Amino acid sequence: MVLVLLACLTLCSTAPTVAPETDALPEDEDTLAENYLSHFYTDVGISNSPTVRNIARTTFNDSLKAMQSFFGLEVTGTLDNETIEVMKAPRCGVSDISRYAHFYGRPRWEKRQITYRITKYGRHLSKSEVDATIAKAFQLYSDVIPLDFKQIDSGTADIMILFGRRDHGDFYPFDGASGVLAHANAPGRGQGGDTHFDDDETWTLTQRGVNLLLVAAHEFGHALGLDHSRDRRALMFPTYTYSPTTGYKLPADDRRGVQALYGSRTPEPDPKPKPAPRPTAAPEPRPTEPEPEEPTQPDPGRNPRDEQCSRDLVFDAATSVRGDLLFFKNGYYWKKSTAAQGIRLSKVSARWPQINVVDAAYEVPDKDVFYLFEGRQYWGIRAYTNTKLSGYPKPLTNLGLPSNVKKLDAAVFVKSTGKTLFFVDSKYWSYDERSNQMDSGYPRYISWDFPGISCRVDAAFENFGYLYFSDGPRQTEYNYASKTVNRVLLNYGWLNCY
Ligand SMILES: [Zn+2]
Ligand SMILES: [Zn+2]
Repeated sequence: MVLVLLACLTLCSTAPTVAPETDALPEDEDTLAENYLSHFYTDVGISNSPTVRNIARTTFNDSLKAMQSFFGLEVTGTLDNETIEVMKAPRCGVSDISRYAHFYGRPRWEKRQITYRITKYGRHLSKSEVDATIAKAFQLYSDVIPLDFKQIDSGTADIMILFGRRDHGDFYPFDGASGVLAHANAPGRGQGGDTHFDDDETWTLTQRGVNLLLVAAHEFGHALGLDHSRDRRALMFPTYTYSPTTGYKLPADDRRGVQALYGSRTPEPDPKPKPAPRPTAAPEPRPTEPEPEEPTQPDPGRNPRDEQCSRDLVFDAATSVRGDLLFFKNGYYWKKSTAAQGIRLSKVSARWPQINVVDAAYEVPDKDVFYLFEGRQYWGIRAYTNTKLSGYPKPLTNLGLPSNVKKLDAAVFVKSTGKTLFFVDSKYWSYDERSNQMDSGYPRYISWDFPGISCRVDAAFENFGYLYFSDGPRQTEYNYASKTVNRVLLNYGWLNCY
């Protein structure tokens, strides 16, 4: 998001310095176009990655095509006058482009033919209905990007699809009717692209229950590399709303998002007639009412509510508190409660006045206390009453940390050893909660003692005997006794997203 906004500002400030068209030499126009495309269409082709080239063979031309397509110009792939006009226009309207999003690291398929296999069908629709709807959902994408999708009936497909209930073989058990409808992995080997539908939903081909085409198309957006969009009209908007599926086409924002990854499908020289659209089970109203434009937010990236379901979500801190989990971000925290269903977002200072942004947090269940850290200070809080203990805040040096430590990255209490680990940059300290003393021989490098986790820890907590270490959006589930990595997760997986 931030990058795109910067790019927009760059355009607005550089555009007036471009020489008037009448004086411009073709050479300048080439440079202009190259700069323009590298600012706005870096996803397509300008990248130096050789893997990207497999998909976007002719880098410059594909970028140009994506740009032309975005602006509704004739998609020629060549630098014609009309295209140059658009490039020169000092318009910030292109920030529209920032509404779609890609995943962290921009994963994408590196080939043109993608196979999929439906390994388990649900209870609500017939096999042929599901096959047809899934094919239709893929076709929304193959209509606009140069990928083809082929269903196979045996073996391992790129995208493995199933309908499952509750625990269905991955880290994200479904939650019964409503709530999470489905989920999908970003492109990649192994489980990359795999898509699961919660079979406790009532899947339909109409507006009743949950419409399979719309949800499948949303999930396949993820499977192709799209993250959630801020555009309410986009298919990749994170909440499900029904819209009529007869003649449904990929909304503009999603089309741009997916074309930024894969380029546009150039029209076949001799287009074959398409098969007639499959009838849906019930007549549906149309056309779609135009939806009101979402109000612009001054700084949407800073609002944790917007980030909750982003795969790029980075935690400031995390801790357990009496069986609940608290995840801190930018002065807010999400509470994932064992008692109540769902996730609650609250402001830190509203709950604990004096504390604004939590850098690190940990709980010592035996003492019924948890600690919140901000900068060089920390507070002890009685877990049962959620009230601050007297005598706080205390300075970090009170724990035996050196005075040059400005803030902690993370902290976690390990039940089995009675020690609390404090993480700062690439090192950590060990604190004995029984003797209230820092253990000698510290700090040590994280990489020495925790093989497999990254050399930095942003947030750490314990849950059901496992330790969880977050570094950026990724998280390692760690077995402390055996010092081995159980699995690698993404932070947002804790926040009831799909
Ligand atoms: Zn699943
Ligand atoms: Zn989604």
